[in-house]
Amino acid sequence: MGRRQIKQIVDGLKTTDGAGVNLTRFIGGPELNMLDPFLLLDEFGSDNPDDYLAGFPPHPHRGFETITYMLNGKWQHKDSVGNEGLLGDGSVQWMTAGRGVVHSEMPIQTDGLVRGFQLWLNLPKEKKMIEPAYQDIHVEEIPIIEEQSGTVKIISGNFRGTLGPGLSHTPVLILDIRLNRESEISIPVTDGWNVFSFVYEGDALTHSKGQLAVYEKTGDIHFKTNKSKAGIYLAAGEPLNEPIVRGGPFVMNTRGEILQAFEDYQNGKF
Ligand code: FE
Repeated sequence: MGRRQIKQIVDGLKTTDGAGVNLTRFIGGPELNMLDPFLLLDEFGSDNPDDYLAGFPPHPHRGFETITYMLNGKWQHKDSVGNEGLLGDGSVQWMTAGRGVVHSEMPIQTDGLVRGFQLWLNLPKEKKMIEPAYQDIHVEEIPIIEEQSGTVKIISGNFRGTLGPGLSHTPVLILDIRLNRESEISIPVTDGWNVFSFVYEGDALTHSKGQLAVYEKTGDIHFKTNKSKAGIYLAAGEPLNEPIVRGGPFVMNTRGEILQAFEDYQNGKF
């Protein structure tokens, strides 16, 4: 099977969110508004506690799933449905907002570091109003495949017959790939799915640390390294091809549904 060509490199936009958390937005900003079914990708990473310690105090969501993957640091989550979780290095918090949750997210550093990603995955039209759900995925539950070229950690989806623990309503593949020096690897992805890869460490030759690549629609994803290793966060998903209307923390299909979300939130229905 052929290799997918890169069609865009995104450098990201530094911004703040929550109570003043400094982060870089790669999807959901002016460079790349969305990559169906992915609505947003933020990278937060700092050794300066002032950049994030204020966290994300209680705020609502409706209409999608949030997937938070911590490379370093802890992530404390509390929500209006009664779920509470404290995730450590290498773990994942998977929240299905569905018809609505109010939650708080507070990063806590380990070894002086907080580093991770938050990805927003859209819900199909008929599932936007499902009951909210929450999966706390601990690091030891996430399979890691050892290859000669490095390791592949499977957060969600199927990689060469091994399934990741994250359960999504829209079909996805989410991997953390660590590639050794002078190595290469091919990642099979279903034709027609959208894919991005973000290099969080080192250099993957086609793109390096801090860059996100978006690919064409067919073929495998191929990575290669030379003198330095690479750490790559990859996500692929089946596009929903449905209309999107955003209203802050809500993502629905029509403007009327966004107004309804604000009204329901004001009336304490979350
Ligand atoms: Fe949130």
